[in-house]
Amino acid sequence: MPQEIKCLVVDKDNTLVLPKSGETFVQAPDDQVLIDGVSKALRQYVDNGWSISIASNQGGCEIRTCHPNALPVGAYYLDRDTPLKVEQVAILHGKVAIYTNPQPKDIIFLPLDAIARFQYKTIDMAISEMRFAMELTGIQKGYFCPDMAGQECYAVGKSATAEVGEVSPVTRGLYRKPNGGMLQEALFDSCGEYLTAQEIASRGIEFLMVGDRQEDLEAAKKAGAKFKYRTQWIDLD
Ligand SMILES: [Mg+2]
Repeated sequence: MPQEIKCLVVDKDNTLVLPKSGETFVQAPDDQVLIDGVSKALRQYVDNGWSISIASNQGGCEIRTCHPNALPVGAYYLDRDTPLKVEQVAILHGKVAIYTNPQPKDIIFLPLDAIARFQYKTIDMAISEMRFAMELTGIQKGYFCPDMAGQECYAVGKSATAEVGEVSPVTRGLYRKPNGGMLQEALFDSCGEYLTAQEIASRGIEFLMVGDRQEDLEAAKKAGAKFKYRTQWIDLD
């Protein structure tokens, strides 16, 4: 009798954790606090033999471009490939002065018509953020998609380094929710195969996604998983 497969995939933001700061988005890897009832809900699944992983879109890692005077404060200006946090932007002597952190390169001057590259979050920050959420929840594996085109997937495990998930021809381009690639990878991790919704049903595999947004629901549908909103999933009694 083959072992029963039970695979639970949980969205991170506003499903497992909230920003501790009260901001809309997590400001730093440790700016996360568990939502009431999450620990209890997770424990029930662990006790019932489910394997659990996190799946999170991290589109803030996407590298964007803009005129330097439009650089958003708090984002990371990419000086070649070095991310420097933008503290302030000003026009000085006909140039754009970008005040950055950390030192020593604290002010960078660019022509007004230059094109600046930036990202809201670095990959390293997204990895640390995932790891912090894994510590809070006790979940052992987390997937995140850093690009808007869904071409890349990072799998964060217990080991010190995150691995770029092996890019599979099945899931390539489908990592970003509302596509189902991260969920398919999580199920692959449980059963060693990429399965269609029909195969999942006919083999009696239990496959559930929990999230807070329509995109989570759609990802579940595409990957052949059942879906629950966090509010249905958490039993606060
Ligand atoms: Mg969410």
